[in-house]
Amino acid sequence: MLQDYPNTQLFINGEWQNSKSNETLEIINPATEEVIGKLSHARKEDLDVALNAAENAFNEWKNVSAYERSKIMRKAADIFRSRADYIAKLMTIEQGKPLFEAKIETLGAADSIEWYAEEGRRAYGRIIPARASGVYQFVFKEPVGVVAAFTPWNFPLNQVVKKIAAAFAAGCTAIVKGPEETPASVAELIKAFDEAGMPKGSINLVFGIPSEISEYLIPHPIVKKVTFTGSTAVGKQLASLAGKYMKRVTMELGGHSPAIVCGDADIDTAVKILSANKFRNAGQVCISPTRFLVHDSVYDKFVDGFVKSAESLKVGNGLEDGVKMGPLAHDRRLTAIEGFVSDAVEKGAKILTGGKRKGNKGYFFEPTVMTNVSKDARIMSEEPFGPLAPISSFSNMDEVIEEANRLDYGLAAYAYTNSAKTAQDLGAGIESGMVSINHHGLGLVDTPFGGVKDSGYGSEGGPEGLEAYMTTKFVSQVGL
Ligand code: NAD
Repeated sequence: MLQDYPNTQLFINGEWQNSKSNETLEIINPATEEVIGKLSHARKEDLDVALNAAENAFNEWKNVSAYERSKIMRKAADIFRSRADYIAKLMTIEQGKPLFEAKIETLGAADSIEWYAEEGRRAYGRIIPARASGVYQFVFKEPVGVVAAFTPWNFPLNQVVKKIAAAFAAGCTAIVKGPEETPASVAELIKAFDEAGMPKGSINLVFGIPSEISEYLIPHPIVKKVTFTGSTAVGKQLASLAGKYMKRVTMELGGHSPAIVCGDADIDTAVKILSANKFRNAGQVCISPTRFLVHDSVYDKFVDGFVKSAESLKVGNGLEDGVKMGPLAHDRRLTAIEGFVSDAVEKGAKILTGGKRKGNKGYFFEPTVMTNVSKDARIMSEEPFGPLAPISSFSNMDEVIEEANRLDYGLAAYAYTNSAKTAQDLGAGIESGMVSINHHGLGLVDTPFGGVKDSGYGSEGGPEGLEAYMTTKFVSQVGL
């Protein structure tokens, strides 16, 4: 156990500091339920300092060349990567995920910084041929300005880095409202940017009461862009507020991903990949497969394999060797998951394995597989965000596409088939921001990540992620 889990302060205008009121929140280790540290709690007076700092720094950072920005960001990536073992441990202690998952996320964050460091150097505008001679038509890409970023606890680093690496590469500055449950790993990310030489005030990190902070920052005239990852319900509130003040918005919201397994699929591969991704981070993943739809002809084989895979997982403290699934991240999730299971069982579901809390210390829940789940059960319509796998069967393609598209969500979808035609039909027919066929290929920084329908709008990752932090300016000029 890491003895020295640090307390986390606010980072405002280039200084680590307590809030002016000196208020703090407690951090709990979800594997032990022990209080492990304290977190400084910002109020409006702290936010005012951060806002002015971010605005002043924007006037400097937007004028730093893309080449210089890239050098600073690459240095931040190097610093961050060199501390990966320490940071991964912090994340496991505060969030619960197994150490190997935390390490992958930490190294992935360094990669994301590097990728955007490079992409920022290619934020090209264009010259449009004019209709009259002597006229020059230019399109410029300019940084949008100060960004307010709101990020959750399930991937403490990944959710922040995709936002701020793209924002910094574009020339923006930021105020991040980090996750109150998992602050220490996020603080390490901010530290790396600061040590690499980002201008004072360009990156600010605050924590507190989420609604109090968002209701103050979003309408504030200094903030020009809002980016949020979290639930659809909260996303709709924040998007409405941003709309009222005409702020640019990226919304990465909830999902309820169908995972379709066709009769001609390689079932062993489907079981292996889908179960690994179902129970990754104890299912607290917005693109987690959550509705398993399996063709009648391979249903029994898939269910047997999936149950065996769930039962083989070692559940425990993420710092222990061999642990494949840690606890849920906080007590709210435990209550929510117990509610989904009891509701499904009341409506006729059969629990094949799992179904209850594991032990009575730590927020552990057993990897759970259910069949006979009624469409009326809440788990078939609300995002479960936990280690629950409801498996249903289907008999034809029209039926399964209709079920995949039944909900208002449209974030991720998965399909397994050996037919190129079926793969194409599913890729085209599923209403989803992302579809991954015969493997789990989502979430890399090089590729766009985002949803449609109630899952939000805008993409993170890929050139689209950079574009989200830039405005387009057109200049038409005569007489060069
Ligand atoms: P929640 O809806 O209260 O919070 C989700 C996230 O939004 C948290 O990080 C929280 O700090 C933030 N948040 C909440 N209200 C806010 C506000 N008014 N302004 C700014 N930020 C705000 O729920 P929770 O109990 O933390 O998580 C439960 C649900 O949230 C899950 O069921 C899941 O649907 C969703 N969630 C989604 C993601 C994702 O990656 N899309 C991540 C975490 C949680």
